[in-house]
Amino acid sequence: MTFHPKMFINGQWTDAASGDVDAILAPANGEQFAEVASAGATDVDRAVQAADAAFYGWSKTPVGERSRAVLKLADRVEDDLETLAQIESRNVGKPIGLAREEMEMIADHLRFFAGAARSLEGRAAGEYVAGKMSIIRRDPLGVVGSVAPWNYPLLMAIWKIAPAVLTGNTLVLKPSEHTPFSALRLAELASDLFPAGVLNVVTGDGPNVGARLVSHPRVRMSSLTGSLQTGRALLHASADSNLKRLHLELGGKAPVLVFPDATIDLAVDKVMEGAFCNSGQDCMAASRLYVHEAVHDEFVASLHKAVQGLSLGDLQDEATAMGPVITDAHRRRVEDFVERAQCSGHVEILQGDDPGVGFYTAPTLVVGARQGDEIVSNEVFGPVTSITKFADTDDIVGWANDTEYGLAASVFTRDVARAMSVAADLQFGTVWVNDHLPVTPEMPHGGFKQSGNGKDMSVYALEEYTEIKHVMVNTEAA
Ligand code: NAD
Repeated sequence: MTFHPKMFINGQWTDAASGDVDAILAPANGEQFAEVASAGATDVDRAVQAADAAFYGWSKTPVGERSRAVLKLADRVEDDLETLAQIESRNVGKPIGLAREEMEMIADHLRFFAGAARSLEGRAAGEYVAGKMSIIRRDPLGVVGSVAPWNYPLLMAIWKIAPAVLTGNTLVLKPSEHTPFSALRLAELASDLFPAGVLNVVTGDGPNVGARLVSHPRVRMSSLTGSLQTGRALLHASADSNLKRLHLELGGKAPVLVFPDATIDLAVDKVMEGAFCNSGQDCMAASRLYVHEAVHDEFVASLHKAVQGLSLGDLQDEATAMGPVITDAHRRRVEDFVERAQCSGHVEILQGDDPGVGFYTAPTLVVGARQGDEIVSNEVFGPVTSITKFADTDDIVGWANDTEYGLAASVFTRDVARAMSVAADLQFGTVWVNDHLPVTPEMPHGGFKQSGNGKDMSVYALEEYTEIKHVMVNTEAA
């Protein structure tokens, strides 16, 4: 398998102007497996210039034509599914089964966006002033600078690329410095589908390359999926450059509320998926569990058994449920969280298997964590979830909402009235009832509070990449 070492700028494959490259490591064994161009300011500027030059022509291209290009891209992703899945598996440390599922989702999401873009509408057209006709248009913004994370590199990139180009914008994408290869493979697949300059991929780090992109005065909108800290950096960059529009999908600390009438087997199954899928490196990960005292011990025993049965290891085995985390530094960060929780003296640590190679770390339950503990408040972004017992069902929504994050939450109960009233009171962008984690492209995904602003997926995402224009026509003019 080849890992593309060059960037894609203005329809051409190119090295960094400096000739610099970055080494990329495989999380499964910690060894370098490839190199990639390490961009500098000159490369970013060239990509933005290319996108800017391509903008006018692309914005005038009929949406049906833009849509056909994206539909073709979806077909190519499907045809290339195995290669893309293998790239993502090696680069991120994903079990191959999960990587294949993601590539199937990506083809589906591209097709959803390609269809939905053709039905975007302005909300009104009519005569609101005598003798004058008003029309609402949705216009593209210009060059979009998009910055993606490493946990679902291609899926997050697609959530940015598809709505941007389908609405007539052009784009410069910077994938994470840890996981550039699936975005570069996508650029290869798309290279003859869009005019030069419509889609550009630059590779490099955040503080230099990402920062240059999001502060560029010709970039009219920046979109980020990343941490709160990077979200803040983008707000500063926007304020200091050209007040560009921001679309921010940031961190999360999803609570799971398990009420006394919950079906425990179901709750355990869903928490296993929600907490340990992608090694817990998911902004919607089920990372703090609140379990009613009536079912607490049964739930913990059953969850612990499931954690001990979680298969870690060979990424090529379809049966492998969990791989490593992304870097050695991140592995240490995750393990430090667990160690500090243990030092509090009031928790019990229950763990599963740790293969002890590469950047693997054991799936972990922190039982007996208290509201206000670091492990309950801060995003770990690894295979660790806290369990807090509760007695008063009236208080528990308050505990769940007691966070600066607001991306996702779930509630497990068989009482429909309770489920509906709790879902209404939870301050999170997605609430599942008796489930945790599934998404679908028709429905929006995005945060309340500091988990960000703007929505990914759904028609709302397409709208984010457009500007509303009022055109008023004097119908009495000669
Ligand atoms: P990160 O913020 O460290 O990096 C994200 C991207 O931003 C990377 O490409 C990085 O190079 C870039 N970046 C870093 N500093 C920058 C700067 N100053 N200017 C411009 N770009 C910069 O996040 P990460 O570690 O890659 O991903 C993990 C975080 O992403 C977690 O907090 C997670 O919750 C969040 N996330 C959110 C969602 C969502 O949909 N809300 C989805 C996935 C991940």
